[in-house]
Amino acid sequence: MKSHCRVCGKAHTTANFSGELLGQKIDYFDCPVCGYVQTQEPTWLDKAYASAINNCDTGIMLRNQNNVGVVLATLTALGKRFGCVIDYAGGYGILVRLLRDKGVDALWSDPYCTNLLAIGFEYSDEEASLVTAFEAFEHFVEPLREVEKLFSIAPNLLISTELIPTPTPAPERWWYYGLDHGQHIGFYRIQTLEWIARRYKKHLISDGQRYHLFVEKKFPAIFWRFYRKVANRLPSLFTRGMRSKVWDDFDKLSGKLAIRR
Ligand SMILES: [Zn+2]
Repeated sequence: MKSHCRVCGKAHTTANFSGELLGQKIDYFDCPVCGYVQTQEPTWLDKAYASAINNCDTGIMLRNQNNVGVVLATLTALGKRFGCVIDYAGGYGILVRLLRDKGVDALWSDPYCTNLLAIGFEYSDEEASLVTAFEAFEHFVEPLREVEKLFSIAPNLLISTELIPTPTPAPERWWYYGLDHGQHIGFYRIQTLEWIARRYKKHLISDGQRYHLFVEKKFPAIFWRFYRKVANRLPSLFTRGMRSKVWDDFDKLSGKLAIRR
């Protein structure tokens, strides 16, 4: 089967390996130019997103709590603690609500999910310092088109996606292929993220594992890593001088001043 790399456009003449995804044999292509590993054209996504496995996401709250620390650390490293953050793959709005509780001006966006917890705080063209896309890149059918959209929202982009090991693992040897749910269709290496950074004239800072940051102005990666460690344990150090938006948001949504004042 022929294909072309959905990141750099390189033509693939033969598949590198295959795996059984949702009971169907699927070809995988490993790009020699940018290192992106992708499935063949994904024609099974309707079935994948209807799967009951979505109800088994027991890590959803823990991930969102961790992401609060990562966002606080990133805003601090960028010198933009009071800047606006757009959570592009905002899901139910959990992260936006948690960030607003800390005092961060966070807004929700998600083309595929219903906003349940951040209603009234949807993104609509506001100027932003940072855009986030947690656990979204491995789902993108057209990664470059999505990246372009993200950089049109903010000059700095924070993402999470698990890097694929080298040498490329066999499908049954790496959990992140997600063969049981079929939603993960593309996997990145540092080389892939660097290719994207070069194309959009950004600097890449990565933890070499899951979290990756594309920034407009370069700063030493050690600051970001250090801040992340501290922010997970002591988030209050990063919210000094910031005021929780819990009550202001209540006022805005209810149209009246909160009784506690
Ligand atoms: Zn490529």
